[in-house]
Amino acid sequence: MSALLDKLRAGEAPDFGVIDLHGHVGRYAYPIPDLAAEGLLEVLDRVHVEHIVCSHMQCMGRNMDWGNREVLAYMQACPGRILGYVSLFPASPAEVQTQVEQCLADGFTGLKLHDHNGFPYDDPAYLPAYAIANERALPVLFHTWGQDRQFAAILRLAERFPELSVILAHGGSQNPDLYIKTALAAPRIYIDTCFSACRRGLVEYLVAGAGADRIVFGSDCYFYSLTQQLGKILGAKLDDLTKQRILRDNAAGILGRCAQQGE
Ligand SMILES: [Zn+2]
Repeated sequence: MSALLDKLRAGEAPDFGVIDLHGHVGRYAYPIPDLAAEGLLEVLDRVHVEHIVCSHMQCMGRNMDWGNREVLAYMQACPGRILGYVSLFPASPAEVQTQVEQCLADGFTGLKLHDHNGFPYDDPAYLPAYAIANERALPVLFHTWGQDRQFAAILRLAERFPELSVILAHGGSQNPDLYIKTALAAPRIYIDTCFSACRRGLVEYLVAGAGADRIVFGSDCYFYSLTQQLGKILGAKLDDLTKQRILRDNAAGILGRCAQQGE
């Protein structure tokens, strides 16, 4: 029995606004029916998501200056609702630093890194970005797909830059135990829930292993359906307070830390 699930099934709003820490905006290599910021806002309103933190759909590519400008346009179209992650391509430390400084001055919230570009997360060109993010206690969302080398590099970074809120994307996509072990190895490592092929019981497994305070909601919208990703948390065999921690409270804590540092 979940009062929260019943409430949303009945079309009512929950008592709290959901925070989605893994979203995307912009064009990609397949048709997306509605690319407009207003279209995304309509979806957010429909499923009671108060804030979504987005990078560009092409965050794994190399034209990051262009992608980040596109994200900024969405942020400006929906202030406070669509927030931005800076995506980076590690061309050089100087380019990375300039990109991060410029985007943070424009109001971006954190960093999103993807190793599809062929560079490991501890590539030296990324280091200025981590140093700046560490000073401001920002969240850094890392694309992960259960690979040892990804987790080893991320763990080294979490130890070197202890103020970062490190988020491991696609929790449990491969090897859930490795996600849990990595999250528990440092105090500010979180697991996000976005995974379209999520097997029954995976969310509960991650909560049992890493603790409810280490699990955050991420949808990967537009790649995945925000509705389906949300339903997976609402329908999990967890009590409503735990669901609220995943859907809002943990993320609010992460965003609150960087807001405090920025004051
Ligand atoms: Zn993603």
